[in-house]
This record gives sequence, structure tokens and C-alpha cells, in this order.
Amino acid sequence: MTQTIPTIGITGTSCRGKHKLMMAAVAIRYVEAVRRGGALPLVIPPDTPTEHIPALFDRIDGLVLSGGGDISPSLYGGEDSPAIHDVIPQRDTLEIALTQAAVERGLPFLGICRGIQVLNVALGGDLYTDIDTQTSVTEKHNRDSTNERTLLAHKVEILPSSRLAQILGGTEFEVNSLHHQSIRKLANRLKVVARSPEGIVEGVEVIGHPFGIAVQWHPEWMEQDHPAMQALFRALAEAAKRKAER
Ligand code: MN
Repeated sequence: MTQTIPTIGITGTSCRGKHKLMMAAVAIRYVEAVRRGGALPLVIPPDTPTEHIPALFDRIDGLVLSGGGDISPSLYGGEDSPAIHDVIPQRDTLEIALTQAAVERGLPFLGICRGIQVLNVALGGDLYTDIDTQTSVTEKHNRDSTNERTLLAHKVEILPSSRLAQILGGTEFEVNSLHHQSIRKLANRLKVVARSPEGIVEGVEVIGHPFGIAVQWHPEWMEQDHPAMQALFRALAEAAKRKAER
């Protein structure tokens, strides 16, 4: 009998490549982390029409909602801010529909950075459109501006009873932090399972879902040095495999 290798879709972005050609792309770290977790990565172009989601779901066993630019604040009534950057409306539309479908259909998924924000918006929550100007938090969450992608920027405290704590094997971790936005009003179907010391939401789980987890940090930049973060990708692949074998 051949081993089932689950397929995990990774939401892509659009960017300019060589000769300024437009590309549909994902950062290689996501691809490597998914593969090392035990799954076959599949890039989902950001301009995929939402009508193709059912066909896509016939072909994937799990999903990573990857990091990227900001979600248009018009989609959740967010406060306008000069700090909002890199909005790609097509990507917003696709990812919100994909997330809603993954929640409804019990498709295992992991949201990362922008992904935790997409999940909250897709289920009716909203965001601080700029942490530094809209909260009193003194922690530095926005290491993106200095590209310190592997720097352990702050601590997260994880709910002991959560799936996330079970997977990571602990309740306190130092994590990287490459975001300037975060969850404000939490969507009804979500439960907060991780926070920074000053209270920024750093992890959520979908209540009653087989594997609906999202984090505000970037485990794909940590998994080579931190076994707990690699365990997150392995757990996603295992959940996807269980789905593939059903
Ligand atoms: Mn952070």
C-alpha cells in the first residue's frame, strides 16, 4: 500500500519578478515548511475565481492562509490609516471565500499572520488597522519594516487547554512578529488561544472545527530552529492526511 501524502494548498500573492513580469507566488519558506511537515504544497494563485473553490477543494486536503499585505478595511469597516499597505482586492475576495468554505466544510487549515486576520474578518470580526496608533501597546510587533524575520520579538502565552498548546507542547514561547495590525473585535466562532503579554491576540481556534488554527506570528520562519513550530506544520499535515484517507 502506498503512503498517502496529503496535498496542502498555500494561498499565493501577486508580485513582480524578473523583467517586471507579474507572478503568482508564495514565499519559499511556506513551501518548505509544508513539505517538511509531510505534505505536498500546492500554490493557489490569488486571482483564482471563487467559482473554482469547489474544484480546488476536491484536490486539497488542507490549507495554509499565508502572510502578506493588508486586507482592505472596506471589508470590515476598519479605520482608515496611512499605515495600510499592499492591499490586493482579488486576493481578499478569494481568501475570505476560501476561509468560509474551509470553516464550513471542516477542511484542516493554518492561518499565518495575515491569515489570522483573514479568518477573523471572514467570520465577521474586525481589526486594528494600525496597532501603534490605535492601541496603548508598547511592544514592538512590527518587525516587518526592518525585515527581522527570525528575531524573537516577544513572548506569547498560550491557553493550556487549547489544541495549539497541545501541538506546540507548551504554553509560553518567544515568537517573531512581522505585523502592524491585529484582531480587535473577535468573530463569534473563534476562541482566543494565545496573546502577547500586553494582550494582542496572537492565536485563535475555530470552535468545533477539526483543525482550524491561526497564529499572528510566522512559524514558517522559525520551524528550522524551533521544533515546536515544525510540530505545527506536522500536525496540519496529519490532520490533512486523516481527511485524505476518509
Ligand atoms: Mn506579534
